[in-house]
Amino acid sequence: MKITTIGTGTAAPHPERAQSGTLIEVGSVRLLVDCGSAVVLRMAALGLRWQSITHVATTHFHADHTTDIATLIYGWRYGQLPPRAEPVELIGPPGFQGLLDAMKPVFGEELLNPPPPLAIIELPPGMDHQLADDVVLQSLKVPHTPESVAYSVRGRGRRVVVSGDTGFDPALAVWAEGCDVLLCECSLPDALALPTHLTPRQCGTLAAIARPKQLVLTHFYPPVETEDIAGQVAEHFGGSVVCCHDGWSLELEES
Ligand SMILES: [Zn+2]
Ligand SMILES: [Zn+2]
Repeated sequence: MKITTIGTGTAAPHPERAQSGTLIEVGSVRLLVDCGSAVVLRMAALGLRWQSITHVATTHFHADHTTDIATLIYGWRYGQLPPRAEPVELIGPPGFQGLLDAMKPVFGEELLNPPPPLAIIELPPGMDHQLADDVVLQSLKVPHTPESVAYSVRGRGRRVVVSGDTGFDPALAVWAEGCDVLLCECSLPDALALPTHLTPRQCGTLAAIARPKQLVLTHFYPPVETEDIAGQVAEHFGGSVVCCHDGWSLELEES
């Protein structure tokens, strides 16, 4: 299993951080979790094959997680010759079909028509969804927007949990317990804390419960980057923590 953070930014435009996007590769699956502004461009810049993404999973409908979905579809259709013929699954929480349908009057009524063939799947939290024979996706509701979910990807003896945007919720930590990698948002410093985002100390508290082999932090609003993020996490979590950048990647041995 390989995890690559493509975009580690937020709604705040940033010269070095594209908005949210993470690539998870396991077996035949190349899953893109979230697709905010500049994520498709960053994939090209990093030499990641956007052409062969097999699944796109959306954590929630905020623009910094969704605006490049249309960019990616048009890339597959008009940005390569011949147009992509292999089907793609677009996955999101309930309401996701409505989000994509709402893009049609904006980007073209043919947006969701082939090529490529698109399967649109609304995945209810708690349900397993098979991405391939040996790869399972599951979601958990998290406190951010009404539809927001975190994702767990399990395959070939490994498990990664992606928090998406979330406030502090011990249920997320319990759900993530024992995962190999917890990719967790880390939006705000204590002075700007909100119930819908995490601070470094809250990331540390969640990780202390979840005990991931590796805590990876992403989704940094500029004010939190002036803090000692790793130091504040370490007040609560003694394990390994990485503050990632666009293009950071980790390969886990598969069993
Ligand atoms: Zn966000
Ligand atoms: Zn959000």
